[in-house]
Amino acid sequence: MISAGIKSLVENGSAIRAMFEEGAKMAEKFGRENVYDFSLGNPSVPAPKELDENIIATVKETDSVALHGYMNNAGYPDVREAVAKHLNKLHGTSFTGRNILMTVGAAGGLNVILKTLLDPGDEVLAFAPYFVEYNNYVSNFGGHVTPVYTDPETFMPDAQVLRSRINLGTKAVIINNPNNPTGVVYPESVIKEIAAVLEEKEKELGRSIYLIADEPYRELAYDGVEVPYLTKYYHNTIVGYSYSKSLSLPGERIGYLVMPDSLDDADLIIAGASVANRVLGFVNAPSLMQKVIAKRLDLKTDVAAYDRNRKLLYETLVNLGFTVVKPQGAFYLWMKAPDGNDAAFASAAKNYRILLVACKGFAGPGYVRLAYCVDYEMIKRSIPSFEELAKFYGLTK
Ligand code: PLP
Repeated sequence: MISAGIKSLVENGSAIRAMFEEGAKMAEKFGRENVYDFSLGNPSVPAPKELDENIIATVKETDSVALHGYMNNAGYPDVREAVAKHLNKLHGTSFTGRNILMTVGAAGGLNVILKTLLDPGDEVLAFAPYFVEYNNYVSNFGGHVTPVYTDPETFMPDAQVLRSRINLGTKAVIINNPNNPTGVVYPESVIKEIAAVLEEKEKELGRSIYLIADEPYRELAYDGVEVPYLTKYYHNTIVGYSYSKSLSLPGERIGYLVMPDSLDDADLIIAGASVANRVLGFVNAPSLMQKVIAKRLDLKTDVAAYDRNRKLLYETLVNLGFTVVKPQGAFYLWMKAPDGNDAAFASAAKNYRILLVACKGFAGPGYVRLAYCVDYEMIKRSIPSFEELAKFYGLTK
């Protein structure tokens, strides 16, 4: 007997598993070269070489007991101090080590902060479409997510809609910028409007509303687009960052939370997050990775490789007559199902050996997501299949 909640997740997860299995079967039948898998957000660019060298150097240089031992639940003090200084240099903020808690990736960070903030029954708003795991992370602590729908064409948040959704049960708002799944980057003007609504609602309702900025894609922005740093716009902002995408390290599970002194109940939140990290069983973020990332906080993945993929895929799909949102960040492209039926579209694409994800999981009906963190040559090879798909939908002859 397993819990009803997990049983339902096992059953609902089967659609993605089915896609994996189908992909494997297709690869067997047609050859891996002839299957075009745009379904997974796993970085295709290797981690920087210097990072691998730093892993070896760190192991050699550091006392083994100190490197692999337990530490403060928030992380190594020198690493937290270094992260704070790095952020201050980049964003003109004034964080210290006390504001930083090292986490087990963005997922670990989100679970820690939600555990710290939520009581059963609390509501968390999320701009839709959104990363499907938010539902699970929030329900882990007895909360529930209410989607705040964005503009159906641009997928930008609308401050008026946000205003109408906030109520006495709203504890937090999750914002993900650059966005998975749409690839949109919310500009400063939109962030200012959101901040103004949150300030207004805090006053009106007489309670704190926390903005949780989920930022694993912060470094992946194209065409010189700026990604605003949200603690500068709203006092009750907590930032969750991760190196999973920015350094291609998703398996290493390393990231951090930023909890500024400007938060209402800052001392309690900072202390609470440390306890949450412990009692959730993370205890602390991986020790070797903390030391390694702190050695070179300015290291970045090869963003140009994703940009090249983005341009090729976007131009190909637009030329074929598909309606797509021009991606400005992350490594996802959001494409409209020509007849509005995203599940049927994903299924039709499979007939041409293209794997993509129907929007069902993202609360954004009528769209599919393509992850372009793939081999450039695979995108090139997939073009004739997209041409066939466009013909099937009557977009081209
Ligand atoms: N948030 C978003 C929007 C994501 O897309 C992901 C991973 O794909 C995560 C959080 C989790 O990231 P991590 O692997 O760092 O836990």
